[in-house]
Amino acid sequence: FKGFAMKKLNETGWVEKEVPECGPLDAIIKPTCVSPCTSDIHTVWEGAIGDRKDMVLGHEAVGEVVEVGNLVQNFKPGDKVIIPAITPDWDDEAAQRGFPSQTMEPLGGWKFSNFKDGVFGERFHVNLADANLAHMPDGLSDEGACMLVDMWSTGMMGSENADIPLGGSVLVIGIGAVGLSAIAGAKLLGAGRLLAAGTRPISVKVAKEYGATDIINYKEGPIDEQVRELTDGAGVDSVIIAGGNLENTWKEAISSAKAGGTVSNVNYLSGADNVLIPRVEWGCGMSNINIKNGLCPGGRVRMERLADLALFGRQDPELLVTHKFEGLDKIEDALYLMKEKPKDLIKPVVMLDLD
Ligand code: NAD
Ligand code: ZN
Repeated sequence: FKGFAMKKLNETGWVEKEVPECGPLDAIIKPTCVSPCTSDIHTVWEGAIGDRKDMVLGHEAVGEVVEVGNLVQNFKPGDKVIIPAITPDWDDEAAQRGFPSQTMEPLGGWKFSNFKDGVFGERFHVNLADANLAHMPDGLSDEGACMLVDMWSTGMMGSENADIPLGGSVLVIGIGAVGLSAIAGAKLLGAGRLLAAGTRPISVKVAKEYGATDIINYKEGPIDEQVRELTDGAGVDSVIIAGGNLENTWKEAISSAKAGGTVSNVNYLSGADNVLIPRVEWGCGMSNINIKNGLCPGGRVRMERLADLALFGRQDPELLVTHKFEGLDKIEDALYLMKEKPKDLIKPVVMLDLD
């Protein structure tokens, strides 16, 4: 099959590969809609996970089953499916301890475009199909469903980890697709005031539609100072980091949180070796400000629940889709668009009609 790959650090290109063997519990999928992730950009151009050779990129897809192993019970060729970005080994001990995204090794549930060929090709392989695929429900579009597999799952995990009290105040730093999903999740989890730090006009618009009550322009001064000003010095109960940098963002996050609050990170950190926690603002390490983090949750149940949020009108995933391409060769354009991040972009999708 043909796929769009990371050839090595800082280099992408098309590759030809053999369709992987379908194990007895596995499935082979033909994608019908894919989307590039900011993480693909970190992987190729920032070397965030190290070098990779000729690895097909992409981990956000909706598709059709073309083959299943003989022990797969719930899926058959022709089924329309949602494929979570994270496909854990559900029998691993980390999964049994409640951390399926970290199976086998840290971040080990993240296989596509990390240590196995991803979804930017004519075919891809899914391990443990019964646990790692979800049936595509009626009433959800391909592009909408494609926003659930990583963007909603990650962003909403960011808000779940933020321990938002009912009516509590929340700050979301970074309002790309992940931060926007964190806003949607925070609202659904009962946030009262919901502050969002970001600038892209299209993102600001969706932030408001997803539930932000205040917009902070981080280019106009430190976020924590603006938060203190808006909240009469109080700060917020919960902070979700979904963007920013290592120089300022952690300081701004900690300094925005109330004692007893939670800082929840979903940002993929790259560009320096250390994360700087401001000592005094962190109460000299005694402020009860908790720091949490996590990798996108995967699996069938997660996808079904996120789909229900869309199907039962809680929130609309399609608001994240700003650009639509058609055809396999357009995957390259979509990835480079994600790299350039023009002001009118949140997420591009590529619609596919493969043989
Ligand atoms: P994005 O680049 O679209 O959004 C990040 C936003 O942060 C941008 O709008 C950018 O303008 C803004 N920003 C830049 N500097 C800032 C600053 N100093 N303060 C505040 N905001 C600032 O990216 P995205 O697609 O929304 O993804 C966000 C992050 O989440 C990425 O690092 C991505 O790799 C990561 N991610 C993590 C997981 C996970 O499982 N934890 C999954 C998917 C993506
Ligand atoms: Zn991703």
